[in-house]
Amino acid sequence: MPMKIDIGDIVELKKKHPCGGKQFEVIRTGMDFRIKCLTCGSQMRIDRPKLEKSIVKYEKNTQ
Ligand SMILES: [Zn+2]
Repeated sequence: MPMKIDIGDIVELKKKHPCGGKQFEVIRTGMDFRIKCLTCGSQMRIDRPKLEKSIVKYEKNTQ
C-alpha cells in the first residue's frame, strides 16, 4: 500500500544527511519528492520508492 505523503509532513530517514540530521520536511510530492533537512535547511530530491524504503518515522502535518 503506497504511503500517503503530503507536503509539510515530517519524515525521519534511515540514512542521515551529511550534516547529521535525520528529520526532513516534505516540500514537494509527485514522481519524485523534494525534502528539506530540518537540521541544516538544505533541500534534496529523492525518488518516491527510495524515500518510502528509507522512512523510519513518519509524522503527519497536523496543521
Ligand atoms: Zn542537513
